Amino acid sequence: MKRMLLFFLLIVLVAGGAFISITRDWQTPEIKLPDTKYVNHEVIAMTSDNRGLGEICYYLDGKSESKSCVHAGGAAVYELKVDLSSLADGEHEMCITAADENQMFPNKANLCRAYTLDKVPPKAVLEAATRYMQRGGAAAVFVSTPERETDIQVIVGDYQFPFISNAEGTRHFAIFAHPHDIEMAAFKPVVQIKDLAGNTRRLLIGTISKDRTFNKDNLNVPHSFIESKALEMLNKEGSDKETFLEMNRNLRAASQAKIRSATSAAEAIAPMWQGVFYRNAGAPKAQYADHRTYLLDNEKIDQQTHFGLDIAGLATMPIRAANDGVVTFADYVGIYGNCILINHGGHVSTLYAHLSQIDVTPGTSVTKEQVIGRSGNTGMAGGDHLHYATYVADVPVEPTEWFDSFWLKSRIDAIYSDFKATE
Ligand SMILES: [Zn+2]
Repeated sequence: MKRMLLFFLLIVLVAGGAFISITRDWQTPEIKLPDTKYVNHEVIAMTSDNRGLGEICYYLDGKSESKSCVHAGGAAVYELKVDLSSLADGEHEMCITAADENQMFPNKANLCRAYTLDKVPPKAVLEAATRYMQRGGAAAVFVSTPERETDIQVIVGDYQFPFISNAEGTRHFAIFAHPHDIEMAAFKPVVQIKDLAGNTRRLLIGTISKDRTFNKDNLNVPHSFIESKALEMLNKEGSDKETFLEMNRNLRAASQAKIRSATSAAEAIAPMWQGVFYRNAGAPKAQYADHRTYLLDNEKIDQQTHFGLDIAGLATMPIRAANDGVVTFADYVGIYGNCILINHGGHVSTLYAHLSQIDVTPGTSVTKEQVIGRSGNTGMAGGDHLHYATYVADVPVEPTEWFDSFWLKSRIDAIYSDFKATE
């Protein structure tokens, strides 16, 4: 009888142990806190547990009276927002505790981290800016910030223009554009400065922009052009209309994106240009921001904007660098054919497209008027000409402004001189 009782007891113990080990959640909840040093008003703690979360608490600076708890009600993931806006700026320690839903044996986790609270937007002074500009054109701005900032840029609608900064990170110079597609009423360029804690200051740049009209052009597309270019640029069969649209829309968009990303990727260096930009010789055939309607057998089949200046001179004429700079890109790109991109510093680049020959390689320094290649008709070009474009950051701008020494001195270089003088 005694043996039977012992055996029974053993069965109960084993079964009970098995029950506990099955139902018991051995895993402690996970707590994640942002891995930043500076915060500006709140910290979001992410807690999670496979079997569901129970009570989640936080307390600040080791003070139990600051402890505040919520019940996550068995959620697998719970986001706890800890509002710090009532605290004084400075160093604070935050601790999070999280328990899981297990009634019998709740598992608890706890995590502490120190943060520097900073609720004050960065100070910034607009030191100088170009007074007048035109739609499609460029302007410059110089800003000083007493503290080192992480992020400063000019914002124009959806466009962003980066700055170059002095070694201390306290003075900043940027060239920005009035992109041709930003309507006059919508043109409100601002400098946006974000500090390490995420506080933002916005300064309105008072530059006044003048509206202008851009050319409208009708282009008749010959079937022979489509057929010869389809062989060069596409490896596809279809009607001439389909083929043309494939080149003029998809290939154009992809080519523009490639050049834009190359301009964005160009190293942030100080302006290298030596005076006015050189204009390659030849007759102007198309202007910046020409609006083109494409006709095939008198049918309107497409519309596009032309973002450069077309210059036609002698066939395979030598093409010269517009100014001192560094070659960032030299390769065949879709509609541009063989092309070269030069970084002149200050986030200004120039593009030379449709070349028959490229004489430079990426990384090469070039000087103003140095021969870099020969003109041609590679890519989307009906005849031998140079497609020349100027970019501020990744935005194509009116290239002719940069050929005008008075404009360059008064609108751009004067602001840059102010920036340099205070370095
Ligand atoms: Zn062109």
